[in-house]
Amino acid sequence: MRHEILNYLFSGISRVKGVGGSTSEALCRLLPVSTTIAGAKIPIIRDLLFHLPVGLLDRRFTCPLVSAPDGVIATFVVTVETHLPSPTSARRYGKKPYKVICGNETGDIALIFFNPRADYLKQALPVGAQRVISGRTEKFDYRLQMTHPDIITTVDKLADVQKPEPVYPLTLGLSSRRIYKIVVEALEKTPELPEWLAPEMLTEKNWKSWKQSLLAAHNPQAQEDLQPVFAARMRLAYDEMLANQLHLAILRRNRQQQAGEVITGTGKLTEQLLQELPYKLTQGQVEVLTEIADDIASGNRMGRLLQGDVGSGKTIVALLSMLRAVEQGLQCALMVPTEIVAGQHFEVISNLVSKLPVSVALLSGRVKGKERKEILDNLASGKTNIIIGTHALFQEQVEFANLAFIVIDEQHRFGVNQRMALSGKGNAPHILHMTATPIPRSLTMTLYGDMECSLLKEKPAQRQAITTRIVPLSRYEEMMDRMKSALERGEKAYWICPLIEDNSNQDSLDITPEKDIAAAKSRYAEFKARFGDMVGIVHGQMKGEERDEIMHDFASGKTRLLVATTVVEVGVDVRDATIIVIEKAERFGLSQLHQLRGRVGRGDKASACVLLCSDSAGEVARSRLSILRETEDGFRIAEADLAIRGGGDLLGTRQSGLPRFIFTDLLEHQELLEQAREDVTQFLESDNSMESKRGAALKVLLQLFNY
Ligand code: ADP
Ligand code: MG
Repeated sequence: MRHEILNYLFSGISRVKGVGGSTSEALCRLLPVSTTIAGAKIPIIRDLLFHLPVGLLDRRFTCPLVSAPDGVIATFVVTVETHLPSPTSARRYGKKPYKVICGNETGDIALIFFNPRADYLKQALPVGAQRVISGRTEKFDYRLQMTHPDIITTVDKLADVQKPEPVYPLTLGLSSRRIYKIVVEALEKTPELPEWLAPEMLTEKNWKSWKQSLLAAHNPQAQEDLQPVFAARMRLAYDEMLANQLHLAILRRNRQQQAGEVITGTGKLTEQLLQELPYKLTQGQVEVLTEIADDIASGNRMGRLLQGDVGSGKTIVALLSMLRAVEQGLQCALMVPTEIVAGQHFEVISNLVSKLPVSVALLSGRVKGKERKEILDNLASGKTNIIIGTHALFQEQVEFANLAFIVIDEQHRFGVNQRMALSGKGNAPHILHMTATPIPRSLTMTLYGDMECSLLKEKPAQRQAITTRIVPLSRYEEMMDRMKSALERGEKAYWICPLIEDNSNQDSLDITPEKDIAAAKSRYAEFKARFGDMVGIVHGQMKGEERDEIMHDFASGKTRLLVATTVVEVGVDVRDATIIVIEKAERFGLSQLHQLRGRVGRGDKASACVLLCSDSAGEVARSRLSILRETEDGFRIAEADLAIRGGGDLLGTRQSGLPRFIFTDLLEHQELLEQAREDVTQFLESDNSMESKRGAALKVLLQLFNY
């Protein structure tokens, strides 16, 4: 139940005085529509208030009329001298404006109106009267004029006019002045909410109450007041992060309080596997394994995130951890985002455990009928120890005998909801999330704050470096020659395109002279003509089966040049691929490019990554890419990406679960985020059930942000 103090903020904007038909429609285009009133979806007042100005209009500038510069916003006090209505006879030669000549002791100015209502002008600008006018100055034939002044008013309103005006992100049919008026109206009716911040914090930061801060944020007095570090905006951002961190902390606490199967294992399977491994575990792998072992032996439910760059060796960590559960007769599930990856993991893991008494099964959407029933039966009876599959694993019909441990690979590919839904299976199973998308700490905190985190920093040694080059499209033919000789030498290459199909319309008016249409299908046709049968294509519109077959052909060497979209980004392991060309690299995020680059350099041969840029890609775009040339450290790349593009883009997908922050700028407010996390931890330690006065206020805060 929502606290009643929030009722006004959560009601539709139509409740604000003056918000009727067309204004309401315009606001619907501007704000998220989150409530339904009389069958129509409309925004709520909270979101109107959360729509902060992005600029400031300062009308305080004035000067002698004779020396007024061209093209500035200025305010003058003038006396109306004469009205010069548009000459009716001239109408057919186009618009002749209506002019009103005004002046003062410093000079003259002509006010220009096109198609005015003459009676309105007569009344607003009576001859002989003093008026305040404000708007953009223009020079025409060396004379000063102002077309359609923004403001015409009486002299007693001068002080009002000189107040700085907030400028809002706009939509057709709504001016900033109008939005501001509505906001002020709504703020007046908005109650003060109970203070959820600690008094010491308010004092230390010199922050005002929530409502006062909102008011200040809507009334910037200077450019600095628009910056994320402006006190009012800091407070609003802090509130937002506090809500986020509190929400995650509660989830974390609730999970930690759940009992989890105590898994200590016997060591039999894990030891045997370790002996058989052709390599030694890295120090990092050993450390992470210990962290996981401690978690699952604790009696509480594990929820741990394992972050490790592509190729850091997460699979073996997952397998060794699962084997502990298997040693104890418990079942494990490994969930991956696509069928291709499921198949690959199945092969790899089956191989690794081939000499152990462990039964591994693959549940694929493709397996039907009798075969499928057998897999499901074995799962239900407990005969299968480890099951591998996509999220289909967690559909209703799939029954487990004693599922105790779930591994989710490429975690970032799943939405938060899928992540949560899955916890329902089995008896509060331990969950290990794994992701190869290195993300900066601030994002980890907001995205995975409900979990404990482990990091695999180093990569197994003897890995071959990948040479990364940035190549302009004008060197395409040269590249093709090299590609040809590489393919003739028997090497394998990926060719990545941002699009599947060229859907630019030939008849359209878009005449950008780019012949380089980076569409997979066109490239495929072209390469087929050049290189013949060794070319394959894979993209997201294909069915799982078809894709699998093509990936298989590529892995087996039947094809050696694979044209693809970013579907190959995740987890595909073709160890002897040595070249990856990414076309229109400037269109991709750095992290995504890094991820794609990880498709090569997996075997023992030196590899190359070519970032092919349009010739039209600017200097900025290219220098951005150069960080990929400098480093293979996914975290450094991710930090750079965050700095350039902001959190939402970094993760590429909306449903990544990253909260869409309104006030928070994860770069500017990183330190505040740390403080919010600390604040929450301390608070929950002192008042675990949130029963104190501050606890009650914090509950309101959670609701304010829809948690
Ligand atoms: P990712 O973290 O991207 O999932 P994988 O688990 O697929 O990485 O591991 C990449 C490759 O590195 C695999 O071929 C694996 O066998 C190998 N590998 C893993 N750990 C080690 C290690 N300690 N020493 C050498 N090679 C390793
Ligand atoms: Mg992997």
